[in-house]
Amino acid sequence: SPETISAMLERIEQDNVKFLRLQFTDLLGLPKNVAIPVKQAEKALTGGIGFDGSSIEGFVRIEESDMVLKPDLSTYTLLPWRPRENRVARFICDVCKPDGHSFEGDPRYVLQRAMEDAAKDGYVFNTGPELEFFLFKVLDGRPTTQFQDGGGYFDLAPTDLAEDLRREAVLALTEMGFEIEASHHEVAESQHEIDFKYSDALHTADNVITFKFAVKTMALMRGLHASFMAKPIYGINGSGMHTNCSLAKDGANAFYDPDAPLQLSKTCMHFIGGLLRHAKAITRVANPTINSYKRLVPGYEAPCYISWSASNRSTLIRVPAPRGNSTRVEFRSPDPTCNPYLAFAAMLTAGMEGVREEIEPPVGAGNNIYHMTSVERDRAGIETLPGDLYEAHQALIADDLICRALGPHVVEALTNATNAEWDAYRTAVHPWELDRYLATY
Ligand code: GLN
Ligand code: MG
Ligand code: MG
Ligand code: MG
Repeated sequence: SPETISAMLERIEQDNVKFLRLQFTDLLGLPKNVAIPVKQAEKALTGGIGFDGSSIEGFVRIEESDMVLKPDLSTYTLLPWRPRENRVARFICDVCKPDGHSFEGDPRYVLQRAMEDAAKDGYVFNTGPELEFFLFKVLDGRPTTQFQDGGGYFDLAPTDLAEDLRREAVLALTEMGFEIEASHHEVAESQHEIDFKYSDALHTADNVITFKFAVKTMALMRGLHASFMAKPIYGINGSGMHTNCSLAKDGANAFYDPDAPLQLSKTCMHFIGGLLRHAKAITRVANPTINSYKRLVPGYEAPCYISWSASNRSTLIRVPAPRGNSTRVEFRSPDPTCNPYLAFAAMLTAGMEGVREEIEPPVGAGNNIYHMTSVERDRAGIETLPGDLYEAHQALIADDLICRALGPHVVEALTNATNAEWDAYRTAVHPWELDRYLATY
């Protein structure tokens, strides 16, 4: 409305902002932005700013490439690492077509649609992700896979040289409105995790994009590279983005029922049922790179079997111990290379089908499934997540519900991306092959 726009313009002036970054996300989950001088602010906030969408991954063909960025006023924040004079602020934008309608290829719109659908039954989807990443040394301006420290889980200085960086990142993110809950050294050398407070899925997806961007920037300023790649190094843990999920209804946590078994409501159990039913298709968007599948293997605290449990960490879905308002299910397959908008949209849609169709999940896995034989798993009806991107994409194509949630434009773009990526991978000669065959044959 005009009042909120003029209040926003006033705030921009008070903050001494001279540049505005208008940010959005492509289908690969990479942030894009255009900077405008503050003089253009009023125009941007009232009518939006036009741009050429034809060069953005997964957007549009050249002949229909005029797009408009409409800033979401609630996403205004200063960029704390930029100079304190002549400040830079950013907005996350919705991407619209010239006729003003939402653009089907905007991942933010995909998530908004899924959330509107859940709102029909009175539900708000809340997500809280746990992002893990590695800090690597940079040599001659290029990131390496050399560790920056030799620490391990919850280690502290002097092993943990990254303490200062985590501290700076936490301070910067706090200034940007994040509520940081914890930060710690992760299991692998040079691997870290910073957790921020859950929120509704749209806000959280925005936060995931901002988080990666901020952490990468802080690392760069210290001459380091922060990598969110899923499995940068064979033989040690990869980086996950466990996503804690819950539904709220009338302001209360709809997953909590003090009188139910495990104190988990029917809604919670059915949501788990829906997630499990569509787990394979969700994998395509939660684990979108060739490399993502090198993480989803036994032995590294990442899931590979489609199962749930109230406690053990070898399952795809775990229910963390807290109850009451903190009741949630932890979906453990996503990795931080995912487009969080698409991943959350797929998860919510699957979970909502579970709630609406009252899908009962199979009995929870009691034992550590990593230690079961494949025959034992078959007997227990425990299936495996897709083993590679190609298989995951086939599972997506076969899943009408998830395809409908993403919409035909996005599914077509993902199909093109998969085919191109898979062909490049399939035809490349990898170091592993040379190690294995060069000397022998
Ligand atoms: N890095 C592990 C993963 O890939 C998770 C480790 C943990 O947080 N316990 O999911
Ligand atoms: Mg964690
Ligand atoms: Mg972790
Ligand atoms: Mg976790």
